[in-house]
Amino acid sequence: SPAADYVHSLLASYPDFPQAGILFRDLNPVFAHAKAFRSIVDELVGTHVGQFDAVAGIEARGFLLAAAVGYAADAAVLAVRKGGKLPGPVLTEEYDLEYGSARLELEVGQLPPDSRVLVLDDVLATGGTIAATSRLIERAGYQLTGVGVVLELTALQGRARLGAAPVHAIVAA
Ligand code: 5GP
Repeated sequence: SPAADYVHSLLASYPDFPQAGILFRDLNPVFAHAKAFRSIVDELVGTHVGQFDAVAGIEARGFLLAAAVGYAADAAVLAVRKGGKLPGPVLTEEYDLEYGSARLELEVGQLPPDSRVLVLDDVLATGGTIAATSRLIERAGYQLTGVGVVLELTALQGRARLGAAPVHAIVAA
């Protein structure tokens, strides 16, 4: 796809970041290219068109995608935040990362029950982050109807940790 071509040509890779043994993929150069970013948003919207009422972006780069996809698709936008940042009643999920562990939170009561939610993030690695987000969406009373990422690191087999909702990766590498 046009978006995949942009990702392949603009993606940067950094060995041993943020710690030894991790090859970190940096998508910021892709987001910093206007036509590349537009093509990514268009592909995410087009792939899941008609299947969601809301998008949930995962902090932090998922926020960028969710804002743009939500606007383009006329959908509601949810922010799934790292632990301790949201006031008021929240749902919390703990999970293991490729490096370390983390906590994600979602404010309750933002959407009508059974709203169809598309989860967006930049990278699918081990799948822990999106699996935890999926649990938050379901615990909040919504339906997870799709997952969209820019880059899936297939060697880490994250897809196997996710549920039945369709997962679309612009690039699988
Ligand atoms: P997972 O939980 O699937 O192992 O990791 C995915 C989360 O960690 C995503 O939120 C993603 O932003 C971040 N992440 C893991 N590996 C990378 C990477 O190589 N590059 C970037 N940009 N983010 C990563």
